[in-house]
Amino acid sequence: MSLGRNEVVDLQPLVKEADVVIVGAGVVGCAIARELSRYDLEVVLVDRESDVGSGASKANSAIVHTGFDAHPGTLESQLVVKANWLFDDLARELDVPFKRVGALLVAVTEEEKEKLDQLKATGEANGVHDLKIIGRDELLAWEPAVNPSALGALWIPRESLTCPFTLTIAYAENAIANGVKLLLETEVEEIMVARGEVRGVRTNRGTINCRWVINAGGLYSDRLAQQAGLADFRVTPRKGEFWVLDKAVRLVEHIILPVPTPISKGILVTPTIDGNTLMGPTADNIEDKEERAVTAAGLAKVLEGARKLVPGIHPSQAIAQFAGVRAAGNAPDYLVGPVANLKGFINACNIRSTGVTSSPAVAQLVAEVLAEQGVSLQPKPSFNPYRQGIQRFAELSWSERAALINKDPAYGRVVCRCETVTEAEVVAALHRNPPARTLDGIKRRTRAGMGRCQGGFCTPRVVQIMAREMGVAPTSLTKKGSGSELFVGASKCLLTEQPKKETIGKATPASAGSPLSDYHSAHYRQGTLASKEVG
Ligand SMILES: Cc1cc2nc3c(=O)[nH]c(=O)nc-3n(C[C@H](O)[C@H](O)[C@H](O)COP(=O)(O)OP(=O)(O)OC[C@H]3O[C@@H](n4cnc5c(N)ncnc54)[C@H](O)[C@@H]3O)c2cc1C
Repeated sequence: MSLGRNEVVDLQPLVKEADVVIVGAGVVGCAIARELSRYDLEVVLVDRESDVGSGASKANSAIVHTGFDAHPGTLESQLVVKANWLFDDLARELDVPFKRVGALLVAVTEEEKEKLDQLKATGEANGVHDLKIIGRDELLAWEPAVNPSALGALWIPRESLTCPFTLTIAYAENAIANGVKLLLETEVEEIMVARGEVRGVRTNRGTINCRWVINAGGLYSDRLAQQAGLADFRVTPRKGEFWVLDKAVRLVEHIILPVPTPISKGILVTPTIDGNTLMGPTADNIEDKEERAVTAAGLAKVLEGARKLVPGIHPSQAIAQFAGVRAAGNAPDYLVGPVANLKGFINACNIRSTGVTSSPAVAQLVAEVLAEQGVSLQPKPSFNPYRQGIQRFAELSWSERAALINKDPAYGRVVCRCETVTEAEVVAALHRNPPARTLDGIKRRTRAGMGRCQGGFCTPRVVQIMAREMGVAPTSLTKKGSGSELFVGASKCLLTEQPKKETIGKATPASAGSPLSDYHSAHYRQGTLASKEVG
């Protein structure tokens, strides 16, 4: 959903009444919102962060699993297996990148080789019938960079790649276009209950009355569940660290998986949908739900695990490291459904390591649960399943690029050199709904800052465009919301004894003149200014 060039969507006013409030705008909550937007319901999606997809959904391996290795008979196995088949249509409808590259689960020791038959049998028990065991020669012919000592592999053709940022944003955009209201920076602090029924939610911005609350709170879903009386459910944060390699290094064409252990799928090496190579993750239980630091020990573990599969990997090929945190709850399986003794509260949590994949199937199940609980799901004739993404200049032919530049000269101004992202794409990201409002929001919508220089070149350019389009001073801009401000003042003013903060001024549109132009003139004068004042 695009807005006019000069329209900016700010924090939405609080909605007072709804049929359904979905708590959590990760990939699961956004998928549920999109699914419910098919029906004649007032649906409100809330998240405490400043953008959708700011939790586990922003940092994962981005693989659409087949479910071959899930525990047979679990809800997780059913939903993952079902969801994999939904992705072809979903990706087409929502214009989300999706590639069925396939995975090779590589056995390096005799003991691991013996497990391949057992893994194939598990996959078949889950309804994944296209698995095949291949020998060493075939494996190395397909993937010459794989460990030459490998003894064979399990071929899983439908393991696939997607972009979890685009998927989450696309679900949200399509849900909003179909009538869902998204409230960001809105934290649910209490589930309001009377006589055994949900009556609404109290948030940091006021109260929303509703009869149905869906708990898609990821790492914090235990707190919400506890409020609803599910006292025993606890989420342990489980951190996973990753390395991202430069696009210039193309080591593998398939997802290269290790033989899993009982607690983890293990450290994989995979191409990303955008052409980098990703290796990781670790799986370490931690205390703090907000802890996302990468560590020397974690990164060393990743390197060791990745080199077991692909020995040629070298740390000098890395452009970034990051960590994601899974919501590993103490329940043995996904929790999707109503809770006893509280009508109106539906869980969609304990989704752990497979939520990117299972999201469309979880969403369908939540709709079925609501129907079973007596919600009347009247299909909305106006529902439009399609969403068009931001046109990626980097993916176009030269003639297509020329045609675009003719239409809009902003396509001729490349702001991110590594990923060839243009000013027009950044502008588009700022004027969609939900709009990017942070540097990370721009990054996830356009890839500006995701390349080899990791934002060294594009950050000042993106900041200028954001300030201009949002009509704010650059110093008010953040990386990922309040508390992550990008600037402390105009640069080099810090060299003076009395920083001239007043040159930045209060937020007013740049086109009207001062704050941004003051900022630029202060910025470009600063060498002289600073040396004069210091001297
Ligand atoms: C290292 C790692 C690797 C993974 N690899 C894969 C993979 O390859 N394939 C795959 O399918 N899955 C993978 N996953 C799992 C996947 O990322 C998660 O299952 C999925 O992102 C969970 O989505 P979610 O919407 O449930 O949670 P989240 O994305 O965490 O969203 C929950 C949201 O709820 C909000 N929230 C919480 N409490 C409140 C409140 N009180 N009020 C308002 N908002 C609130 C949070 O701000 C957050 O945005 C991986 C995960 C990790 C960490």
